[in-house]
Amino acid sequence: MPELPEVETTRRGIAPALVGHRVMAAVVRERRLRWPIASNFESSVIGQTVRAVERRAKYILIRFDTGTLILHLGMSGSLRLVKPSAALKTHDHWDLVMDSGWVLRFHDPRRFGSLHFTSDDPQCHRLLKRLAPEPLSEAFDADYLYRATRKRSVAIKQLIMNSQLVVGVGNIYASEALFRARISPRRAACRITKAEAAKLVRSIKTVLAAAVKIGGTTLRDYTNADGEPGYFRQKLFVYERAGMACRVCKTHIKQFTQGQRSTYWCAVCQR
Ligand SMILES: [Zn+2]
Repeated sequence: MPELPEVETTRRGIAPALVGHRVMAAVVRERRLRWPIASNFESSVIGQTVRAVERRAKYILIRFDTGTLILHLGMSGSLRLVKPSAALKTHDHWDLVMDSGWVLRFHDPRRFGSLHFTSDDPQCHRLLKRLAPEPLSEAFDADYLYRATRKRSVAIKQLIMNSQLVVGVGNIYASEALFRARISPRRAACRITKAEAAKLVRSIKTVLAAAVKIGGTTLRDYTNADGEPGYFRQKLFVYERAGMACRVCKTHIKQFTQGQRSTYWCAVCQR
């Protein structure tokens, strides 16, 4: 599943081919995504010039003078820049044909992605208005996390993955950040100390920023279809390493299921 760093990498990858350029054509081959693509999508964007490509949580916002496209990659979606002559693949659901000579093409086998156009402030759109702070913003700091964990008996890993607390901390980054902060994923959130909250916030920011940076080094690959997500190039300490030796203490990494997600941790390093 594309996580926040992959979405940010995508945003940076596609922006140069879009910003300042006009939409010549919009082609929809499959309207049935997570929600149906509205019938006025094409007429809303054709002839419009892209002013900015932004991100909020895992949504990419493509801004025009008349409104904003709000798109989500879902479970399996990806955006590529292709030439107009590029052959179509199965599950290529929509295109924006730009006057830059590039076509922005959305591919999504599972169709959990989404595409909305709004002529209002996108931050007030129903999908965005209740979103919690960005993990890489100043609003997400030790005080904020410490206060949010008081009186919460839920496991800390589940709390930091809750998008009502902070957006975009997916399973892989939650697991890695907890290892770096030396906190067990099972620990009740209310038992996190203020110092641990500070450490965990720093760890979350570090793993996400590193993934964005790694993704950023592969931007030139964005015009072909096999760019690897940043996290595969990051040195992982626990994620998908069950049974392997901890890189710090050599104990075997453990795995268990928590909130229907696999959690990986070192019982020696994390308390
Ligand atoms: Zn260990």
